[in-house]
Amino acid sequence: MKNAVYIVILILITILTVSFATLFFTVQNFKMELNIDNMTNVDNNIKFTFNEPKKPIILVHDVSPIYLKELKEIVNIINRNNYQNRTFLFIIVNHANKYNIENYPNFVKYLQFLEKEGYHLEYHAYNHIGGEYNCNKTVAEKKLNESFKILNDCGIDTKKIKYFIPPRYKISKDSEEVFLNKNISIIMDYYLLKKDNNSMEKIIITNKEYTWYMPKNLVKITELLAISDYKTSQHQFYLSIHPKAVNYGGGLEFLNYFLNTTKN
Ligand SMILES: [Zn+2]
Repeated sequence: MKNAVYIVILILITILTVSFATLFFTVQNFKMELNIDNMTNVDNNIKFTFNEPKKPIILVHDVSPIYLKELKEIVNIINRNNYQNRTFLFIIVNHANKYNIENYPNFVKYLQFLEKEGYHLEYHAYNHIGGEYNCNKTVAEKKLNESFKILNDCGIDTKKIKYFIPPRYKISKDSEEVFLNKNISIIMDYYLLKKDNNSMEKIIITNKEYTWYMPKNLVKITELLAISDYKTSQHQFYLSIHPKAVNYGGGLEFLNYFLNTTKN
């Protein structure tokens, strides 16, 4: 009987000790959390740099003489929000085998003017027919050389070209090599390929397009969605736009809102 009492007392002491220990550690943890909160509150800059994503990059696809009027409207919005340095224009040199930029000096002059304003001139396609770079090495080299000859003849320095978007995001392994060997990085729908010494580096990106002939009544909801996508993106954010598709309905209104909200 006496033994039973001792055992009960022993169990009680054990339970009390464990409870006190748990309470003690909980309080300690709580204090630590408070301290961490205080630290981040004291130095808002630290918190800011950890959470804030890098500013978006604008990719303008299908830059071609047939969309000169639309391009000018897009440029107005980009200039208004000081996004010139973060905007990349992807040129088609001989759109549909009909619109060779050599025959459109005003268009070429406009591109050169934009480059001086801070825009980046990049390469998108030779004729943009089908997935034209889903081809073998010989064809890819031929198309690229012909494209760069046209660009250089127009006075656009191809040595400055650092990025390529394959038409319809279609590209063969052979073509990838052709571009990477020229140290031109390839932007795809959700990743970027670049040459890293002698190997190929694949970097995951967020590449979104919201303005494919968007009706006006979808502007507000699309704005909310895009800002949320941008803020939650774990990767560099790219906003893709196509002339004519973005100029339709509420596209430019959306573009202006997005750039205005993300510019600072
Ligand atoms: Zn395209």
